[in-house]
Amino acid sequence: MTATATRVLVLNSGSSSLKYQLLDMHDAARLAVGLVERIGEETSRLVHTPLATGGAKRETEGAMADHAAALKAVAAELAADGLGLDSPQLAAIGHRVVHGGLKFTEPTVIDDAVLTEIERLVPVAPLHNPANITGIRTARALRPDLPQVAVFDTAFHTTMPEHAARYAIDVATADAHRIRRYGFHGTSHAYVSRKTAALLGKDPSEVNVIVLHLGNGASASAVAGGRCVDTSMGLTPLEGLVMGTRSGDIDPAVTFHLKRVAGMSEDEVDELLNKKSGLIGLCGDNDMREIRRRIDAGGEDGARAQLAFDIYIHRLKKYLGAYTAVLGRVDAVAFTAGVGENAAPVREAAIAGLAQMGMAVDADRNAVRSDEPRLISPEGSRVAVAVVPTDEELEIAQQTYALVSA
Ligand code: ADP
Repeated sequence: MTATATRVLVLNSGSSSLKYQLLDMHDAARLAVGLVERIGEETSRLVHTPLATGGAKRETEGAMADHAAALKAVAAELAADGLGLDSPQLAAIGHRVVHGGLKFTEPTVIDDAVLTEIERLVPVAPLHNPANITGIRTARALRPDLPQVAVFDTAFHTTMPEHAARYAIDVATADAHRIRRYGFHGTSHAYVSRKTAALLGKDPSEVNVIVLHLGNGASASAVAGGRCVDTSMGLTPLEGLVMGTRSGDIDPAVTFHLKRVAGMSEDEVDELLNKKSGLIGLCGDNDMREIRRRIDAGGEDGARAQLAFDIYIHRLKKYLGAYTAVLGRVDAVAFTAGVGENAAPVREAAIAGLAQMGMAVDADRNAVRSDEPRLISPEGSRVAVAVVPTDEELEIAQQTYALVSA
């Protein structure tokens, strides 16, 4: 790495998608952002926004057979803006990796041995790690000389005490198959809990925060003095809160019942709970905007949307109560991600009735729209309720840059 190398490319590889951001860590500025969708199909699409040049968004359609083709297309777009991947200013590539197991507690420079370890985790993250591995292989092939760093969704949660991370099942079976609570969205929980402390003018070590990451996937975490002590997602991202398409918490016997009584296969149950449950399963929509619109329109359809909303809120309240008990003292509750940052009715409903726990929302503050971290609790509240926009790409870039510039 040269002294002038301050840029980091962040890659988030999904099974058929590749999201990327190029940041300059000199001032944390975003130089370019983009997304390739439908990789492997005839209709792959690349949307590239060159923020550094202030140029217009560019869209390219056409078959991109695999992640290698997609990354080459991204590299060509960046080169067209004078931001090519061969630039000496590029310090590193940071990869989002969903599952790091117990092994990876920190961001890690990727070598062959690390890649092998990430591959060993595929059985516990069959939906996510393979795509992340493909992204890493592709990027390494393109720039073999450049440091590449894996930043794990699970890492922030590895501080959980054993009594929070272990399921109450036979220990030998659990250990043989690495079954335990790992938790996900860790870069977001880390970033948001730190930002929340800053909003309160405190050091992270001084505050206890409940973070509610409410996107299409959703998870809660209890963070005590900057360290995660519990989180709602488990072995996989299926556990916990009601999500866009995932059920969250459910009696595990439901899965036996679906197989034995409803005659569903393993894959069908997996698909039902991961893709056809949560908000979409309850009311046919997983976008909170649409659900609110239907509630406002009323009638029978509105009642169906209202029930989905109520189930979503009820689960949030249960976690707020549980994590208040786990933390003992709560200084702040932070709402983040698509729903948490934008849906004022969700924030209002989740906190309603929790005065006994020192939590309240001020209607005027809650109605404010902003990209900045902000308090929505009334002046003098015992617990600060806040909206704290997350930035997983910036967190990945910062962790990557810190590691390679150390
Ligand atoms: P993910 O990263 O998990 O795909 P996001 O954090 O981007 O998801 O959140 C996406 C979700 O945020 C959408 O499905 C929608 O429910 C919700 N959302 C986005 N914008 C708004 C808004 N203005 N009002 C209410 N909900 C919103």
